Amino acid sequence: MIARTNTAGVDTSPIRLVIHGGAGTITRSKLTAELEQAYTQVLAQSLTAGHSVLEAGGSSIDAVIAAIVVMEDSPLFNAGKGAVFSNAGGIELDASIMDGSTLMAGSVAAVTTIRNPIRAAHAVMTNSEHVMLMGQGADAFAAEKGLEIVDSSYFYTQFRWNQLQKAIAEERLLQDHDMVPDTPQPDADEKRGTVGAVALDRHGNLAAGTSTGGLTNKRFGRVGDSSIIGAGTYADNRSVAVSATGTGEIFIRTVAAFNTAAQVRLQHIPLTEAADNTLAEIAAIGGDGGLIVLDAKGNYAMRFNTRGMFRGTIGNDGIVRVGIFS
Ligand code: ASP
Repeated sequence: MIARTNTAGVDTSPIRLVIHGGAGTITRSKLTAELEQAYTQVLAQSLTAGHSVLEAGGSSIDAVIAAIVVMEDSPLFNAGKGAVFSNAGGIELDASIMDGSTLMAGSVAAVTTIRNPIRAAHAVMTNSEHVMLMGQGADAFAAEKGLEIVDSSYFYTQFRWNQLQKAIAEERLLQDHDMVPDTPQPDADEKRGTVGAVALDRHGNLAAGTSTGGLTNKRFGRVGDSSIIGAGTYADNRSVAVSATGTGEIFIRTVAAFNTAAQVRLQHIPLTEAADNTLAEIAAIGGDGGLIVLDAKGNYAMRFNTRGMFRGTIGNDGIVRVGIFS
């Protein structure tokens, strides 16, 4: 893409970053002012981190990583530190990334010692012949590539532990992004989610990434949509970059991210409508959640069929826009 400059010689090619931090029954009455502020702050930090990369002429891939690392490092989100526990009392993280200019992709599943799984997904994409590594092999690969390795205790947070005990007691599989509908004051921990980002850089290239701890009380070894290219993450310069959050099994069955991109590329359906079509398919077989979508012109959509989704966007003007409720 040819860079656009204005009369002052400033590059005015569109740049855009869109992020999410999970979707669910997130309503004003269920989120304290303090928590709302804390979420808003981390979302803004994530947007600013990714925007700095894009503004400096960096790649959409690097912007996606920068934005996601901020949320992985925050205990507020179900990714990296603060991730949910499996039924075996461990933490198993899934992440994936895709470059829309080359259709290169990388992912890791069920990793337990990598501080920032999104960096490991990127290393698989750039430093291996593979697209997906899982479990011990992925952990070993990340160590070999010099990524930061932590003791599994690093990911531990008390509220996630309590959440597991509750899920076990109720014999439930907790959709991390879901809250108990009839509970007036559900635990704050039940509304923290998977994180994702989509970005457009000055060169007109799209990228997408997603990172999660999955579901509370999931069977150990379970892998969700977030590490599956086409389900939780997809990017193609010819259509859109997409990152998903929601009921992973159903996002896999509807191939949610690719489904959305295919509607845009093959049927020329506008972004918002494409995302809503995918979410309707998901709802029809019992799922819910959200999608962020971005095209190479900078058009974007942040859609969800839940009560709320932690989300935000930033573009050329550098103004941070954050939303939580519907
Ligand atoms: N999609 C994630 C998973 O199923 C969970 C979420 O987005 O809340 O692992």
